[in-house]
Amino acid sequence: MKTLTVSVVTPDGQVLEDDYEMLSCKAENGELGILPGHIPLVAPLTINAVRLKRNNEEDLVAVNGGFLEVRPDKVTILAESAEKASDIDVDRAERAKERAAQLLESNNPDTDVMRAKLALNRAMNRINVAKN
Ligand code: ATP
Repeated sequence: MKTLTVSVVTPDGQVLEDDYEMLSCKAENGELGILPGHIPLVAPLTINAVRLKRNNEEDLVAVNGGFLEVRPDKVTILAESAEKASDIDVDRAERAKERAAQLLESNNPDTDVMRAKLALNRAMNRINVAKN
């Protein structure tokens, strides 16, 4: 089976670098499936799971936006933050979700709604990835 190298990098360092048969993710323009030999591409990503397939198994990474750069033999993801499923602290994400939800429900005019929505999305993405 042909593979491509997938590298996920954040300002804190490299989260993952390994070879996979396929990557799927949600770009701002929609779902993308990347196989080895894909044409070069750069796309902005949403806060979502990146799915990595190899030997009929799937690894999930929670990615907080950023960019995907595709070359025929390599995919690089640059994101503000990213965690492998096994590195996610679910209790922390549940607390972050609760905080963001309370802020959004409070209707306080001082609340930065966009910031709270993004925090909620990050937390829900982490919870979904950890539980998959
Ligand atoms: P929190 O409010 O819990 O800090 P956050 O969404 O504001 O969540 P980020 O600013 O996105 O956190 O990330 C800061 C750092 O903490 C990053 O290195 C990120 O990978 C890590 N991180 C955040 N939440 C979790 C989590 N639930 N489990 C593991 N690592 C996490």
